[in-house]
Amino acid sequence: MKYLDEYRDKEQVKMLVNAIRKTVTRSWSVMEICGGQTHSIARYRIEDMLPPEIKLLHGPGCPVCVTPIETIDLALDIARRPEVIFTSFGDMMRVPGTMEDLLSVKAKGADVRMLYSSLDAVELAEKNPDKEVVFFAVGFETTIPVHLTAVREAQRRGLTNFSILASFFTVPAAIDTILSDPENKVDGFLTAGHVCAIMGNKDYYPLAEKYNRPMVVTGFEPIDLLYGIYRCILQLEAGTANVENAYKRIVPENGNSAFQKLMSEMLEPFDQEWRGIGQIPLSGLRLKPNYKQYDAAKKFSTADKINNIKVNKASLECIAGDIMKGNKQAADCPYFGKDCNPEHPVGAPMVSSEGVCAAYYNYK
Ligand code: SF4
Repeated sequence: MKYLDEYRDKEQVKMLVNAIRKTVTRSWSVMEICGGQTHSIARYRIEDMLPPEIKLLHGPGCPVCVTPIETIDLALDIARRPEVIFTSFGDMMRVPGTMEDLLSVKAKGADVRMLYSSLDAVELAEKNPDKEVVFFAVGFETTIPVHLTAVREAQRRGLTNFSILASFFTVPAAIDTILSDPENKVDGFLTAGHVCAIMGNKDYYPLAEKYNRPMVVTGFEPIDLLYGIYRCILQLEAGTANVENAYKRIVPENGNSAFQKLMSEMLEPFDQEWRGIGQIPLSGLRLKPNYKQYDAAKKFSTADKINNIKVNKASLECIAGDIMKGNKQAADCPYFGKDCNPEHPVGAPMVSSEGVCAAYYNYK
């Protein structure tokens, strides 16, 4: 398949692996920030191809995994309302809240539906004027513009029964937090190509300089990943810490200005909570006050009262935060593959299509 097979070509993979082997002289830890990259790394067994000196760490770039438990509980509370059709991508359906998940709420009679796009939820709202249609909009910079387009479309159609429950995160703030931890083990970063395709590379220059770490914009196919790792190792061995674009076929230096404009018109930053990691200053984005009628968290403002909670002991001991900061691996978790598996997930990284624990469970 054009533009796909050529980035999985075995001979080129071998050449890159050899180039990495010849370049590396000591141990280096490289973190990929994006969950999509984590899954490709596990799926194509990239770690098994690399020399033992190179350790890959898997960062917090899965928005489903870092959505705070309070937001999941708020989603459940809204979904239980009889006037609501609650809609979501499939991988949010089984992410555990404090007591249950969206699928269990649906099993008890709530109208919870899986959709492939927030624009489908706009259609649903138009067809159901007597219902409130809420879409659980979870994402990083890559998918946020699509959800904003849905809000604009609802506005254009004059719909008053459509809103999004937003759980939006920004990648550079997470990198800043990881690197500011004196215990962090990350020598270099592979930044997420699709995020850079929207936002450009500008945010990474101050981070590379501040922390003296190379940041290589990297794609998702085996050759993209190995090339990104190779460029990162070249820099580490040379003692440089530059921002480098190893995914030029997709990522323009300045990103997508139309989407950036849309985001700055409709969103404002705030101090976002990241599940397992904690609060990161100005790392979240939420709808500006003039879009409050489309903001489900404001529309259903009494919905965040969660009482009499008995927290599952295993969920307290989920070490996803340590894994996403690069301090531990999925296999270090005592629940991995036993009490926690895709059928019975304890933490979000075992559910999500971008979660690191699911990647290791499925492919390792
Ligand atoms: S295996 Fe399960 S409990 Fe352990 S860190 Fe991953 S999601 Fe959490």
